[in-house]
Amino acid sequence: MILLDNVSKYYPGYKTPALDEINLHIQPKEFVFLVGESGAGKSTLIKMLTREEKPSYGDIIVGGIDYKCLKKKHIPYLRRRIGVVFQDFKLLPNRTVYENVAFALEIVGVSGEEIKRTVPKVLELVGLSEKAHEFPGKLSGGERQRVAIARSMARQPKILIADEPTGNLDPENSDGIIRLLEEINNFGTTILVTTHDVEVVNRHKKRVVTLNHGKIIGDQKQGGYYDLDGSRTRITKRSLGGQPQAVRPAPAQAQPAPVVPKAPVAPPVPAPEPTPTVAPRAPMKPAASTRTTKSSGSAVLEQMRRAKASDAAKPKTVAKRRSLYPNAK
Ligand code: ADP
Repeated sequence: MILLDNVSKYYPGYKTPALDEINLHIQPKEFVFLVGESGAGKSTLIKMLTREEKPSYGDIIVGGIDYKCLKKKHIPYLRRRIGVVFQDFKLLPNRTVYENVAFALEIVGVSGEEIKRTVPKVLELVGLSEKAHEFPGKLSGGERQRVAIARSMARQPKILIADEPTGNLDPENSDGIIRLLEEINNFGTTILVTTHDVEVVNRHKKRVVTLNHGKIIGDQKQGGYYDLDGSRTRITKRSLGGQPQAVRPAPAQAQPAPVVPKAPVAPPVPAPEPTPTVAPRAPMKPAASTRTTKSSGSAVLEQMRRAKASDAAKPKTVAKRRSLYPNAK
């Protein structure tokens, strides 16, 4: 589960927030598109989740980990639980497809035996078994993005964040990538995709969260489509199934925030790490509703804190995770 409770982010030296009182609750196994124009705050929100940036205010809990309690040494462990793929793939050009995926496991200390078992399965998952020994330079954009997804999925994260994954792809490859993410979602991985791509969002009919000037102005729970003005009317007409979907209305007469210069984005670099002994996962009850409101965010937060307090008395173990590869030996 991902929970942002009243999260605001002010970059140092700027008076306008990049994120402004964000309340967002994403249930385990959800598939969510995060849309918004350039400068809306999408990357900042992702950096909050990967802990590249800290919120100025508010609370973040991901997969039972309360970021307030997160120490620096726990961050590599957090990043194993959150896979991230980027628009520009970030593959190692001098390593084959197989080696690119294997490397992601090597650097977190996975044994050679396990790497040999895992890499072929994950390449099969993304449909690239035949290309295992090709170098990235010989692959199409869509195939490179599949390698990037395979690399992230090899560690079986609970959450996969794809930051503009179709930004460099043609419509056919874009659809293929989103279908692959849907397939991964069907295995139980929570998926969060940021995109500008109107067509991709509108074709895939998922939950769509719309950011504008750092605020959430729309949250269409199902059958969502790209809606940058947060208008209820358009959502009602175009939502699937004929049922109007819940939407947070746009704030009345919201003032556009001045755009401040964007700094280069540093990708999270997974680091070698020992077996984690921290970050106990609080047992979580799914919330009854997926509505995202201030009160529901706070209620869930409170529930998790209580669960965590009772969990603190128990021995700290890392929960065994369900395998992505059901047929794995
Ligand atoms: P998006 O990903 O939707 O394009 P960003 O999260 O990158 O939006 O940016 C949100 C706002 O924060 C923008 O006004 C941007 O200029 C500003 N911003 C982003 N990163 C930084 C930074 N490191 N320092 C200062 N301002 C930043």
